[in-house]
Amino acid sequence: MARERVLGAGSGRGGGTESEGRRGATASGSVGVAGSDEESRRRDAALRPKWLREVIGQRKVAERLAVAVAAAKKLGEPLGHILFDGPPGLGKTTFATVLPNELGTSIQMTSGPALSKPADLLPFLTNLEEGGILFIDEIHRLPRVVEEFLYPAMEDYRIDIVLGEGLHARTITMRLKRFTLIGATTRSGLLSGPMRDRFKMHEHLEFYSVEELAQIIRVNAAKLQTTITPEAAEELARRSRGTPRIANARLYWARSYAAACHQGIITAEVARAALDMAEVDREGLDKNDRRYLETLIDLFGGGPTGVEALAATLNLAADTLADEIEPYLLREQYIIRSPRGRIATPRAFAALGKTPPVSSGRNTLLFDTEPTTPPAGNSKSP
Ligand code: ADP
Repeated sequence: MARERVLGAGSGRGGGTESEGRRGATASGSVGVAGSDEESRRRDAALRPKWLREVIGQRKVAERLAVAVAAAKKLGEPLGHILFDGPPGLGKTTFATVLPNELGTSIQMTSGPALSKPADLLPFLTNLEEGGILFIDEIHRLPRVVEEFLYPAMEDYRIDIVLGEGLHARTITMRLKRFTLIGATTRSGLLSGPMRDRFKMHEHLEFYSVEELAQIIRVNAAKLQTTITPEAAEELARRSRGTPRIANARLYWARSYAAACHQGIITAEVARAALDMAEVDREGLDKNDRRYLETLIDLFGGGPTGVEALAATLNLAADTLADEIEPYLLREQYIIRSPRGRIATPRAFAALGKTPPVSSGRNTLLFDTEPTTPPAGNSKSP
C-alpha cells in the first residue's frame, strides 16, 4: 500500500485548502447533507478505492492507466506525468492515490494555492523517492513563478536554485530523483500551454451514469456496514448530480436518517424521505442549483446573463459557479452557454414549476440581440 505524506502547513488534504473549503459547501451536496469540510474529507478518505480494479466507471481512463502502470513496471521507468481534469468530486484524487498503490511507491500531496513561491515546493521535491508521485491539486492555481520552477523538474528531474541577488547571484542545479507529477484541475483551460504540454497523459473525467453511482453506493454501504436495497441505491444515485462525492454524501445522510428514524435499513422509501428532508429535489437538484436557476429565471428573465452578474447576485464566487454548479446544469441541459451569457432552457423552467415565456424559447433567446437586464430596482445586480 502506498505511503501518503502531506507536507507544509497549508498543503493539500492535510492543511485544508480553499478548494477543499469550496468542495465542502457545494460539491459535497447541500449543507444539510454534506456537513463540515473536515467531515467531507474524512468520508472521502474512508471510502476512496485503493486499487484500479476497485474504481467504478471511467473505464477507458482506468484501462489506459493500467497500461501505463504495467509499462512503467516492465520498463523500470517512472510513470509519465499525468493531468486529470473534470468537475469536483469525479475521482481525480482517487485515481492519483490509486496509482502509487499499483506502482508500490509513495505519494506526496499538495495544492496550487498552498504553493505561493518556489521554496514551498522544495520539501516535496527533495523528499521524493525514486519513482515516487507528487500530486498537485488545483494545479491551474499555481503562481507562474512556481510553475516555471517546476518545468526543469518535470523535464530533466533537476531544479535550478538562485542564491544571492544582483551581481552576486549564482544558480546552483540540484538533481532530483525521477518522479511522476500528477496534476488535478477543474479548469484545464486556465493551465498555461507550456505546463499542459509537459504532461504525457491528459485524462478528462466525465459525470457518472446512474448505474455506476448506484454501484458505488452499494459498495460504500457495505464498507459502512449499512443495509441498503438496490432500489434505494438507485434512488440516491439518481439524485447525486452524476458525482461520486455527492453520492457518498447522500449515502451518509440516508444512513443517519435510517438510523435515527427507522431500523437502520435504507429502503427506497427511507431514501426518498431522507433526500426530501435534505431539500434535494426529485430531479437531484440541490439548494444551490435551485437558487441558481431561480435567480437566472426570476431575476434575469431566463437570460442571457453573464456569470459574473449571477455570481454577484448569488453572493458566490464566479469560479464556484463555473466549476461546481454549472457543469452539471449544462450537461443536463438546464442551462446553455451562449456568447452573451447563460440561458435557462425549458427544462429549467419546468424543474421550478414555471412556464417559459412564449417569446423566450431557446433559439429565440440565443439570437435575440437586445441584452436582457434584470428588473429595475435590483440593487444587488451589477
Ligand atoms: P476529485 O479529486 O475529482 O474532487 P475525489 O477523487 O476526491 O474527487 O472523489 C471523491 C470521492 O468519490 C472519493 O473519496 C470516492 O469515495 C468517490 N469516488 C470518486 N470516483 C470514484 C470511482 N470511480 N469509483 C468509486 N468511488 C469513487
